[in-house]
Amino acid sequence: MSTILIVEDEAKIARFVELELKHEGYEVLKETDGRNGLETALQQEIDLMLLDVMLPGLNGLEVLRRFRLQKPDTPVILLTARDAVMDKVSGLDAGADDYVTKPFAIEELLARIRTALKRKGSRETQTNRLSVGRVTLDVDRHEVTVDGTSVELTNHEFELLRVLMENKNIVMDRARLIERVCGYDYIGETNVIDVYVRYLRVKIDDRFGIKLIQTVRGVGYVIRDNA
Ligand code: CA
Repeated sequence: MSTILIVEDEAKIARFVELELKHEGYEVLKETDGRNGLETALQQEIDLMLLDVMLPGLNGLEVLRRFRLQKPDTPVILLTARDAVMDKVSGLDAGADDYVTKPFAIEELLARIRTALKRKGSRETQTNRLSVGRVTLDVDRHEVTVDGTSVELTNHEFELLRVLMENKNIVMDRARLIERVCGYDYIGETNVIDVYVRYLRVKIDDRFGIKLIQTVRGVGYVIRDNA
């Protein structure tokens, strides 16, 4: 069952939407100002937020902006006033998934909620994740973990690891790695890849006791399945 948070200061609207959502089988949480709304949104496990824009305390767009910093994937549907074109634009820019203009038909709101939840579901099952042995690289989150422990990498180290993991079992020569990691117009040192490999080995191999990136003498590097 999905949990929906309603952040809306107009009691009549909030109550009406709450009843309809419960009738549809959703769990419902309710807040009436921006500050409490943000707190509940971050602390509770919610599947979707219905967020009024004109709120006391902290306005809806600010709530959205702060919420997105910590929860990039939870769908948010904005409730906007009829003429507030700017709210819609800034809302979508700030990471809202959709908006509904007040006054709205409840069927329209329910349909948009179903669509947003479905989209979230399909996003979660197709996360952009690469895995080799104990090492997992999440492209969307820009995160590398070994046995679930997070590893801090610079952008170049991350890119190098990503290219090698995407091309698992294929030996990648230095020229191609430079192109992919540093860009086509790179004109710096040619041993730059060896330097990044050395850093990766310190941060991953040495720390976790694995042999992830293998050197192919005179050619380049490879990550094999059996790392
Ligand atoms: Ca309001």
